[in-house]
Amino acid sequence: MTLPGDVKSGFVTIAGRPNVGKSTLLNRLVGSKVSITSPRPQTTRNRVVGIMSRPGAQIVFVDTPGIMREKSRLNKFMIGVSVKAGGESDMLLFITDAEKPNLDEEKFAISRLGEKRCKIFLAINKIDAVKKPELLGQIATLSGIAEFDEIFPISARTGEGVEEMLAKIIETLPVGPQFYPTEMITDQPERFYIGEIIREKAFYLLRQEMPYSTAVAVETSEDSQNGVMVIGAVIYVERESQKGIVIGKGAAMLKKIGSMAREELEKRFETKVFLDLRVKVKEKWTSDLRSLGELGYKDEE
Ligand code: GDP
Ligand code: MG
Repeated sequence: MTLPGDVKSGFVTIAGRPNVGKSTLLNRLVGSKVSITSPRPQTTRNRVVGIMSRPGAQIVFVDTPGIMREKSRLNKFMIGVSVKAGGESDMLLFITDAEKPNLDEEKFAISRLGEKRCKIFLAINKIDAVKKPELLGQIATLSGIAEFDEIFPISARTGEGVEEMLAKIIETLPVGPQFYPTEMITDQPERFYIGEIIREKAFYLLRQEMPYSTAVAVETSEDSQNGVMVIGAVIYVERESQKGIVIGKGAAMLKKIGSMAREELEKRFETKVFLDLRVKVKEKWTSDLRSLGELGYKDEE
């Protein structure tokens, strides 16, 4: 039954190995920064939903943390989140990296998604970085590893091919309700967004020195009388030595991270922000599921 107000709508999971460009694509599609991007893999830990609304269509995108074969419990946990996200969707958008193709890894990632429950589109990303013949070769090989319903060569960076892909996604989705208000671009709580911005700045400033095992917990976030948003955030690292690196000489690094994050948060929330940023050592949290839960990486069972 089609009701008044119904549009083409549905949930699309964005899946693929770390670093193939999932977050970049999501941000382009939604037209704003909802998912952090980084030249280093694995900076997306939670499911981030980006909502794209257009006249007659609404797509709810789920950005997965990436599928990888690794042993730590954190990674196992993240794979769990990815696979689950795939199961609930109307469509799966599987992304590969044309610049750094790795057929074995793609085969593994596809196999992790389990049996085919919905349409699967393949987006071969970063075509701005490869030559035509190379791309054609990749299309031929990749089309053999799964039953893709459509294959789109795209560049999330330049936007090439993205509109064509989007048109096909919208065409394929069912007619249904608009799930979210048009102006909403994400359903993630503010707290999570704030933590991601801080993590992004720390990754940007510290590059190689920033341990993967870093998490940010946002402990308070409230408006005071004079219109200032007060945020208390803690960057968790695993070792004393890492704490020293994140804080820096005379706390210079921590100040830099804090002021970059504050600037972006002030723009986003259109208000003055007071950011109290601290660093704490929390040993072995990556292998301790209980502390994962404490930090907000809870599996929603
Ligand atoms: P994710 O881990 O899959 O979410 O990947 P990200 O979106 O964080 O991107 C990983 C890296 O690839 C970043 O340095 C991006 O700037 C880069 N990247 C993403 N899309 C493209 C693209 O279309 N072309 C090129 N050349 N680089 C891209
Ligand atoms: Mg990402």
